[in-house]
Amino acid sequence: MSPGETARLQAHVLTIFPHMFPGPLGDSVTGRAMASGLVDIHAVDIREFATDRHRSTDDYPYGGGPGMVMRPEPLVAAVESVLQPASRVIVFSPAGRRFTQAMAHDLLASGHLVLVCGRYEGIDDRVLALTRAEEVSIGDFVLTGGELAAMVVLDAVIRLLPGVLSTSEAWRDESHSFEGLLEYPQYTRPVEFRGQRVPDVLLSGHHAQVAAWRRQQALLRTRERRPDLLTPDHLAELDRSSDSGASAGGAC
Ligand code: SAM
Repeated sequence: MSPGETARLQAHVLTIFPHMFPGPLGDSVTGRAMASGLVDIHAVDIREFATDRHRSTDDYPYGGGPGMVMRPEPLVAAVESVLQPASRVIVFSPAGRRFTQAMAHDLLASGHLVLVCGRYEGIDDRVLALTRAEEVSIGDFVLTGGELAAMVVLDAVIRLLPGVLSTSEAWRDESHSFEGLLEYPQYTRPVEFRGQRVPDVLLSGHHAQVAAWRRQQALLRTRERRPDLLTPDHLAELDRSSDSGASAGGAC
């Protein structure tokens, strides 16, 4: 980055465990993006915004029941302390909208993320309306806290930033970006391993045939593993390729 340029993605992660960051984001591709100044991640300690003597961030749930709930006052104050005009405020919750590759692109466009990590039984529901937050889930399971969810979302968003991956827009061929299909199978050396051979077409040096094979493999793989991702156009393409006698033709 040239002097005076600001990071292209800024994120404030609100958590009661700020020492967990950057954690795994500090390594590899995401670590280099941070070191080069393309990405700026700040962990904000929600406890700093607690107003009582004990700096408490949670309390018993109204109506009874197990566990504790995160109090609204420190959370809202923490969000307001970092808010920018273009911020997207995300509260992590297993009850939220499912995180997808499309959402990763969308979040990148905002340039500033405020990521709120819940703990215990979750956060006081009033925080959502008061901070205009979106609830986001990373999958249909329950984690102990939102910190891992924040790391997952940040990893997926950071690698989309131009200049972060070694090949420009390398993500374009990947699963969920390759027109919504799963990626075709990949191989490297050796050509033969324990009786299994790399498909001949990949050794042919014929770029058009390699591209056609990969396209067909992506369609077949998606039909087999995630038929819900296929569009009517994909299905028509699969019909045409089976009419023309193209085979699955994977490895070996
Ligand atoms: N009582 C909540 C429920 O049943 O929906 C679960 C709370 S969970 C133990 C504590 C925190 O972990 C949540 O507030 C949220 O921030 C985070 N979390 C757990 N599962 C998650 C998921 N699948 N996606 C995103 N965040 C999650």
